[in-house]
Amino acid sequence: MSLIDNLEADGFDLKTLLDPKASQEVARVMQICNACRYCEGFCAVFPAMTRRRHFNEGDVGYLSNLCHNCGACYHACQYAPPHEFGVNVPQAFAAARNDSYAAYAWPGPLAGLFRQNGLFVTLGISGGLALTVGLMLAMIAPSLFWGVHLGEGAFYKIMPHTVMATIPIVISAFVIVAFVMGWRRYWHHTGAKWSGMRDLVDAVKASASMRHLGGDSASDVISAPGCPSGDDQSSNLRRIYHQLTMYGFLLCFASTSVGTIYHYGFGREAPYGYFELPVVLGTVGGIILCIGTAGLFFEKRRLHPAVKHESGLGMDYAFIVSLFLVSFTGLLLLAVRETSLMGLTLAVHLGLVYGFFLILPYSKFVHGLYRFAALLASAGETRRG
Ligand code: SF4
Ligand code: SF4
Repeated sequence: MSLIDNLEADGFDLKTLLDPKASQEVARVMQICNACRYCEGFCAVFPAMTRRRHFNEGDVGYLSNLCHNCGACYHACQYAPPHEFGVNVPQAFAAARNDSYAAYAWPGPLAGLFRQNGLFVTLGISGGLALTVGLMLAMIAPSLFWGVHLGEGAFYKIMPHTVMATIPIVISAFVIVAFVMGWRRYWHHTGAKWSGMRDLVDAVKASASMRHLGGDSASDVISAPGCPSGDDQSSNLRRIYHQLTMYGFLLCFASTSVGTIYHYGFGREAPYGYFELPVVLGTVGGIILCIGTAGLFFEKRRLHPAVKHESGLGMDYAFIVSLFLVSFTGLLLLAVRETSLMGLTLAVHLGLVYGFFLILPYSKFVHGLYRFAALLASAGETRRG
């Protein structure tokens, strides 16, 4: 039985995954753009568009995740409102993209979490926080919780290492399965094809440099003009904040990974010295993650109102704020770890981290997953011609 058969046996109708209204609007504007083609050099969407004459639901899922919502084509468009054609490509894609997150979500019944997502993320993070703080207070005496603990193993006087490590292992196992299933749904729905390692290299380069936020389709360098902001001036700020957020997240992930190697490989327990690798990676990662998420928050607010779609705003802001809080409390923990506030700060930080990872497959984080899949598919299409 094929994957599609399996999905359809689950009650999934791949032909109608996306909201028909959002799909039809994307198909309508793409038909107009295909006749016009003025924006051909702006980003990868337009070359992909020219390879199609009709736009089915799979194409809409693919193209909407290839779009970065930079707004360049809206600002350049002679058919944008108030023109009777009313072409607004970024907004049409934003609506379809938000639908696609729900459409590819696994397990299917949790797809509804993408609706009212801002509220869901807030509740998920708060729940993780309340549970962790409550669990710690229930497990240990107040004198330990509010005590000063110094040296290696200090964190585990507040929460035993087995508990601290088991919770993320269970959450990660679920998150990885959800991501793999979401990816498979996206890949089959859009009809994407894998055509070799060179596509993977190209997609990694485009992601690492945020090429399409450079204001044209080939800019891997930061001297590129950038994308229009709310005041119609081009700027690279959005690209820079995106990169800080992505690399900050990766450095924090590397810090945790190195810490795990220290623990199991060398028998060394956290917290580590200020100049040891896990702390250096976490500190640098945390600082640039704070700057990146704060910058994205303000850039999102500055984005021209016409290119946003209200269905995704709550999700965007909730994700940015929760990621900022995770990184900020990590830095705060470093600052107070040798004081009596360590217990409370550790509980708050871990609660935010657990809540954040639990909601990951139903948050804006999936943007990175499907965007990378779209870049991979685009690299293959470009190579095949
Ligand atoms: S967005 Fe407007 S100007 Fe650009 S290709 Fe489409 S119709 Fe033409
Ligand atoms: S990435 Fe920018 S230029 Fe390309 S379709 Fe989206 S909004 Fe338009």
